[in-house]
Amino acid sequence: MLRDIDRVLIDEPSLQVRVAELADRIAADLALDVGAAGDPDAEGRVVFIPIMTGAIMFTADLLRRLPLKLSIEMVAVSSYPGASTRSRGAQIASELPADLAGKHVVILDDILDSGRTMQLVAGLVRDRDPASVRTAVMLDKPARRAVDFTADYVGFEVPDAFVVGYGLDHDGYYRNLPCVATLKPEITGDGA
Ligand code: 5GP
Ligand code: MG
Repeated sequence: MLRDIDRVLIDEPSLQVRVAELADRIAADLALDVGAAGDPDAEGRVVFIPIMTGAIMFTADLLRRLPLKLSIEMVAVSSYPGASTRSRGAQIASELPADLAGKHVVILDDILDSGRTMQLVAGLVRDRDPASVRTAVMLDKPARRAVDFTADYVGFEVPDAFVVGYGLDHDGYYRNLPCVATLKPEITGDGA
């Protein structure tokens, strides 16, 4: 695995520091909502929706830092079938949790690229009448945005390159890489 890496863009300690910062901000913002509702049970109405499979690392690191009563409801969206490094649009591949009415929802993903995945999931969540909807991504690639979408919380901006690691895959591999890196062109097939 390591020999396939071209360049490390974000190392492991930097990812961990940033996740901790995002966790503090998200916790503070949710606490305001929950407090504003004036309802002691509101704390139990916080739902995190990680978009599988890319969001697994971000989700695990982030949620362990949140001292809130919350539930986790995963959804699956596919946009990069097989070994392709180009988005083919977003498709929901699992049921969305049914009971989101009145809940404070935070949608999590590994990366915001074209924006189609987040836009799709956020739209479906909003249709279910939640009390609030927030979006958090570890990485943002604004150069490739195809729809008008901005995440509420962003870990790092990355350049217009195909990246792997920290949950992001190429053909199912490299998700377990603890940093964010680019692959050698002979691996992605982008080379000559
Ligand atoms: P979007 O719908 O915003 O175009 O793409 C979001 C999804 O595409 C992400 O959840 C991620 O799975 C995938 N994706 C986008 N950019 C990259 C990238 O640079 N590397 C990898 N491995 N996946 C990406
Ligand atoms: Mg994904």
